[in-house]
This record gives sequence, structure tokens and C-alpha cells, in this order.
Amino acid sequence: MHHFQYVGQNLHCESVDLAEVAKLYGTPTYVYSAATIADNYKRIVASMKGLDVRVCYAVKANGNLAVLRYLSNLGSAFDFASAGEMRRVVAAGASVKQSVFAGVGKAESEIRMALEAGIYSFHVESEPELARINHVAGKLGVKAPIAIRVNPDVDAQTHAKITTGTSANKFGIPLRQAAAAYEAASKYPNITILGIQSHIGSQITSVGPFVETLEKLAPLAASLREKHGISYISIGGGIGVVYKDALASGPFSWWETQPEARRPLTPEVYGAALSPILKQLGLKVLIEPGRSMVANAGVLLTRVEYMKRGQGKNFLIVDAAMNDLVRPAMYDSYHEIVPLHRDTTRAALVADVVGPICESTDCFAKDRQIQALGEGEYLAIMSAGAYGHVMASRYNARPIPAEVLVKDSAFEQVNARETFEQMIANEKIPAFLK
Ligand SMILES: *Cc1c(COP(=O)(O)O)cnc(C)c1O
Repeated sequence: MHHFQYVGQNLHCESVDLAEVAKLYGTPTYVYSAATIADNYKRIVASMKGLDVRVCYAVKANGNLAVLRYLSNLGSAFDFASAGEMRRVVAAGASVKQSVFAGVGKAESEIRMALEAGIYSFHVESEPELARINHVAGKLGVKAPIAIRVNPDVDAQTHAKITTGTSANKFGIPLRQAAAAYEAASKYPNITILGIQSHIGSQITSVGPFVETLEKLAPLAASLREKHGISYISIGGGIGVVYKDALASGPFSWWETQPEARRPLTPEVYGAALSPILKQLGLKVLIEPGRSMVANAGVLLTRVEYMKRGQGKNFLIVDAAMNDLVRPAMYDSYHEIVPLHRDTTRAALVADVVGPICESTDCFAKDRQIQALGEGEYLAIMSAGAYGHVMASRYNARPIPAEVLVKDSAFEQVNARETFEQMIANEKIPAFLK
């Protein structure tokens, strides 16, 4: 469930008219709904009731400080892919003591920083990393808590660029070698074995791959509990969300009203399928959702620059571009695109919705049926809360877009649009050119 709906003719986020936000802060601007984030968080926790569950929100999906603070207020811990993400959580005024650190390339400085911050656990992706963590912990005179990320060789049946759990991927230690890796870990003087971890990919839309992974991991987890006294299992993130027709029928997307069998993955289906296996293990459960916490909680507001009628083809040229939201260009992803002011008396037209960047991939939608719109009118690109702003770049010397958080009828800019001066602040002309 999300909190974007038309009130009269105008698209609102909670009780806020999005056209007001666009006028006040300009476009392109990301807008996030606090109520939607809260719903997403509470639903996944509720789906696993009876288990000792901790959500470690994957910061890489959306690292805005206000979003992190709000999730922390809700009770969430965090999953970091870098020390920078950890520092964001600290900067947001939240604790990292219940949080975990993933990633195949942790630098020595990052490991030190995480140990000094008192992180809950490292999710170790290779044997050399284990040796490095042991070394750094030794220098600091502390013991480093770890879990090994096990690669179960399960095909998550998602987009090739976001699958991580097969033997062809760089992530984790293969299941067959995992027991030996734990044996090695147990010999290091500055390592404490705390858990086991797996994360097989992102935007996974059926529960099958999650169940298969957990079934593959369960025997190892049980034996590690016996042998090394592990206390938790992290089952990663990856829960898929619905991008098509996200707004179609009010706050509940059409698919949420469908019979169970025809639905894509929901938190309830996920929790119901995994809980029985997890209960048998008797371990604390960590989940690391990113996308499913924030994707449908965010939209990207944009303004129409031109309506260009080409040969047998219309182009709606908007002021947002692939540098602001790269998902369509990078993953061929679909985003619903809707007008902020809905006028059913207008004709519909079919157009490509494109940005101003000099690349053919700078296209948000191809041959999309959309209400006829003219210069200066606003659109919302839906479900842009995850892997949106965090992937923004300055390509074509375009500034990083602004971000706004809405809660009920309150809204505030939580990240100002980058200025030109900020964009060039670290650049200079070298003396030998002067
Ligand atoms: C990216 C990532 C996640 C979050 O994935 P989502 O698909 O956004 O839920 C969780 N755990 C790890 C280790 C990750 O790399």
C-alpha cells in the first residue's frame, strides 16, 4: 500500500498536493511518503511475527538522512555496502550498533571505521577478507563479529544485472566451501563467529528462490549453531515490488486486490513461506530489505519542456533525465508516469517520455499512452524511491536533484538541489595552464 492518490484532479502524496511541491522547489525533485515507508516496514515485520526479527534496511536503496532517521525511529537497523553509508546513518543521528556491513571489497579503513563504531556484524564475502578483518581487529585490540555470506547457487530469476546468488556472481562464498571457511574463521584470534548470511539478488517477484535458498542453507545453519554457537541468520533483501500500474486503483494497487495465486510477491506471502523454516532453526532473523521499503514511497516530479511531434512518433520531452533516475536506461525498468493534474476531458496520446540528455537511452518510457500535456505541466514518475536519487549523477553537467519528505500534511525539502558552485567546487585549473 502507498499513499499517492488523486484528490479531485490533483495527485497528492498523503495530504500534500504534489503540484505545490513542484512549484515551491522546482523540478526534477524526488518526493518521499513517510506513511508509505512506515507501512512497508510494519508489514514485513508483521509477516514474521513469532520470530525474533530485526530489519536491517539496505541503505544503498535510498540513503537520504531523513529517510534513514525515520526508519531508525521506526526501529530499523541498517545494512551498509560501504563506510560512507555507515557514516550517513551516524550523520542521521541513528545508532549503528545493531547494523551489518556487507560488500565484496571492504577496504582496511572501512573495516577499522566499522569496528570503532561498534558495528553488530561484518558479512564476509571471501577468505582474504576474513584475514584482513582479523588483522585490523587485532591492531585495534578488539574482536570482530562476523557472518559469512554464503552463495547458495540459486537463480533468483530476476534481471541479469541484479542477480547475485549464482556461482557466476562475485558475491559470497560457495555453499560447498562455506563449512571450511567457518573452520578457518574459528582459528583466527580476533574473529567472533556470530551468524550466517545470504542475499541472492534484487527485484525477486516470486517466493520460490527465497525458499530454495533457505532450504539449502538450513542444514549448514543448524550445524554452525551446534559447532560455533551462531546466534543469527540473515536472509538478505531482494523482495520485488510492482512497478506497473502502481497507481491504477487508488492506494491499493490493483494486484493487491487479486486472489493470492495471481499476486506477485507480497510481504505476507514472503513471511508465510519462510517463517516455518526459520522457526525450526531457532536463530535470530535479520532481513535486509532495501527496495521493498522505499520504492513505492517515492516519486520523481518532472515538468514538460516540449511536446515534439516527430514522424509517426511523439516525444514528450521532460526536465528529468537518466542522470536523475537511471533505472530505465540501466535495467530497462518500467515506471508508471502520470500527470499531476488529471484531466479526463483531454485526449490521450502515445508518446516516448524522454529527457534532455544527448543519449538515446535517456528515455523513461517508450510508446506510452498518456494524457495530452503541454509545456510547463507536471508529471510524476512513480515508484522511484529506491535506486533513484542514490544513483543520480551529474552527467551533462546537470545538478543532483532535490529531495522532499512528506508526512501527513507536512512537507520539507530534505536535500536541496545541488548548485552550480557546489558542482564545480573541487575542480581547478592547474598552474601549468595558467
Ligand atoms: C542490495 C542488498 C540488499 C537489498 O536488496 P533489495 O533488493 O533492495 O531489497 C540487501 N542485502 C545485501 C547484501 C545487498 O547487497
